[in-house]
Amino acid sequence: MGKEEKLRQQDSTQKWESFKNSLTISEEFPNVTKIVLKTSLDYPNAFSEAKETSQKEYFSDSKFHFEIECINRDCLYSSLNLNNDLRNAIRSRLKNVHGKVICKGYNTYGCFERKSGRCDTILEFEATIFYS
Ligand SMILES: [Zn+2]
Repeated sequence: MGKEEKLRQQDSTQKWESFKNSLTISEEFPNVTKIVLKTSLDYPNAFSEAKETSQKEYFSDSKFHFEIECINRDCLYSSLNLNNDLRNAIRSRLKNVHGKVICKGYNTYGCFERKSGRCDTILEFEATIFYS
């Protein structure tokens, strides 16, 4: 296996492990019954315009883990994680929260090797939180 492939596999294994080891929504927040999460991803680059939107619902037995997959396929060590944003919102008992996160992963494997060149995919999110 090549070096790049190996790193990508380690990165996704690590992300999978942290998903697997997360508590469920009800284990972490027994008073939360549902989270509706709308996301919109925008990867600005010179060659094409990649945009993607989605809406997902999470219930009490879903994992409390909101790592959004980067739409830049070459991105290495993407960092689009909303766990803390959602935790803080729930602790303040907010019904709605929205925000913006920029991916700090490397734009390509070459960028990783040069240790320069961020992915910069923009994630905008809006969550609606339902309490019991
Ligand atoms: Zn990225």
